[in-house]
Amino acid sequence: MIHSFECPECGNPRGMQGECRQCGSDVLPVAMSDILTLNLKHDSPSVEEALDRLTISLRRASELGIKAIILIHGYGASGEGGRIKWAVHDALESNYFSDRVDEYHFGEYTAFGSEAYHTLLRRRPSLKGYLKHFKEGNAGMTVLLLG
Ligand SMILES: [Zn+2]
Repeated sequence: MIHSFECPECGNPRGMQGECRQCGSDVLPVAMSDILTLNLKHDSPSVEEALDRLTISLRRASELGIKAIILIHGYGASGEGGRIKWAVHDALESNYFSDRVDEYHFGEYTAFGSEAYHTLLRRRPSLKGYLKHFKEGNAGMTVLLLG
């Protein structure tokens, strides 16, 4: 697996937030790609926690020069996964994140070869590596293009 961020001081893989676990450096990590995969379901947060996590990550991602985020929010008719998805959709459609998010595409509509797929690839060709796997789209993700 390719790590997304590297410590500029010791060269070890690093998380997007916080200091380096190897050398303790608090210098901003270096992004290895202009695309970030963000799993909002990680550690089963509540809807509020998931939205907070998204807010914080969006701010950090724009500081680090990230241009696109593959947001994994899960799906489902019931359960917390479904609630996070609908809360994220609501927030996006209410322009809650419009200061950072330029464009968003729900995974349902980004199937290989679809109009959204081609639009996204024109904006960010490197998204192909992610999107090509989803021949039927993926209802558990949303693609965000950052401004
Ligand atoms: Zn380090």
